Amino acid sequence: MVMCPGCGLILSSTEEQFDERYHASSACRELYDQLSAYTLSLPDASFPHQFAVDTYAAQHAGANLKPITLTFALVGLYLACEHNYTGRQVQRAHMLLAKTPKQWPSFRFPDTKATLSILDVLNAPERQRIDMLQQWENSVWRTWEAEQAKVAKLVQERLNIAIK
Ligand SMILES: [Zn+2]
Repeated sequence: MVMCPGCGLILSSTEEQFDERYHASSACRELYDQLSAYTLSLPDASFPHQFAVDTYAAQHAGANLKPITLTFALVGLYLACEHNYTGRQVQRAHMLLAKTPKQWPSFRFPDTKATLSILDVLNAPERQRIDMLQQWENSVWRTWEAEQAKVAKLVQERLNIAIK
């Protein structure tokens, strides 16, 4: 059994190695591949896959995650959780953000773990899975409370979206 350093899930794993990019156990990273395969298969124009991408990265942020990846993830969480953006709208915001100066802030990682993990999303019955995906996103966003104002300010400065 290996505990994922990002989300705290304890999963049985054939290898003890951690993921290179994410602060995650290999077994947890495999769950992300599973969820991605599911969300990418959805014929949903609102693109909920973006929620999975941003939430997983924000929950498994560590020294190896590029500053741009973490910034984009937190901006995605902010826009989805505080401004009710769809995944498609977040994706568009990311494209606009990518056109702004390539200087990304550093963020202090949360001290607490979110109450929900990717497993809660995968275990939810299919008709509730997108709802659970959004609950997971909200629970991870709350762990970043100490940095939320910094994210809101960045979004206001770079994308001219008013702070909520
Ligand atoms: Zn994990």
